[in-house]
Amino acid sequence: MKIKVADSAGFCFGVQRAVDLVYKEISNGLPIYTYGPIIHNDEVVEDLRKKGVKVIETLEELKDLPKGTIIIRSHGISRKVYDEISSYGHNIKDATCPFVKKIHNIVNKQDERHIIIVGNPGHPEVQGIMGWCNNNYTVVEDIEGAMNFNLPLDVKICIVAQTTYNYNRFQDLVEIISKKGYDIFVLNTICNATQSRQQEAYELAKKSEAMIVIGGKQSSNTRKLYEICKKECENTYYIQKLDDLDLNSFKSFRNVGITAGASTPHNIIKEVLTVMSEKSFEQLLEEENVVEINNGDVVEGIVLGV
Ligand code: SF4
Repeated sequence: MKIKVADSAGFCFGVQRAVDLVYKEISNGLPIYTYGPIIHNDEVVEDLRKKGVKVIETLEELKDLPKGTIIIRSHGISRKVYDEISSYGHNIKDATCPFVKKIHNIVNKQDERHIIIVGNPGHPEVQGIMGWCNNNYTVVEDIEGAMNFNLPLDVKICIVAQTTYNYNRFQDLVEIISKKGYDIFVLNTICNATQSRQQEAYELAKKSEAMIVIGGKQSSNTRKLYEICKKECENTYYIQKLDDLDLNSFKSFRNVGITAGASTPHNIIKEVLTVMSEKSFEQLLEEENVVEINNGDVVEGIVLGV
């Protein structure tokens, strides 16, 4: 079995930066809080919890906690939340990804245009962006939302996207809204890391018999990777960690692709890869597909590895 791991699989720049910041702050002393889990990955969040980092879900909780450092995760927060946190006297360390911060600045400057945020209204990043809009805004999540968008035609529009939105779908939504005849200013704010990850997942899925997509169930960018891969490759499996992997499902595949969301640590990808490789090897032996093995090398046209 051939296994290919996407080059772009795993932590993106923004997530790495946020996680590094928390670990660095631990070395500076507790208490440390993160506003929501620092990333959508249970293993990393659990490791931080063991080291004393507390996850805050609501601002109410902050009122009664000892003064400490609160870290804003890469998704960012609204201006109102930022101001409220500051008012409690905690030290703020802002790990908002610069690509998200850029969207805050764009929407904040739109005094004349109605803002359309293409994304998931329930996602923290989108909620943060809403909180920086100076003018009125609408969140458009899908094709139906774009078709139903209906303001007077003299209203000028500015369209931005959640950084992890599917690029092709964004183009489709923009086209639908453009055709209505508005004066539109479009900014593709999907981050490069997301675009290239999605493109690579698409290409890998197209030529693989099976795909494994690794990432937290809450991770929006992992879910989109899964959707992209599933469209190209029917045998696509979404797992959070090694334990979720049913190796029996891969018995008959000759080439498998692996990709992972932006909040998936490399050690989980490596674990999956290692187990897949070993299992494939055993299976090949069981199935008597391997004719000869020399010094650990598999011959007869069977390639094992990345
Ligand atoms: Fe930043 Fe892009 Fe990573 Fe989001 S996916 S944290 S925007 S680098």
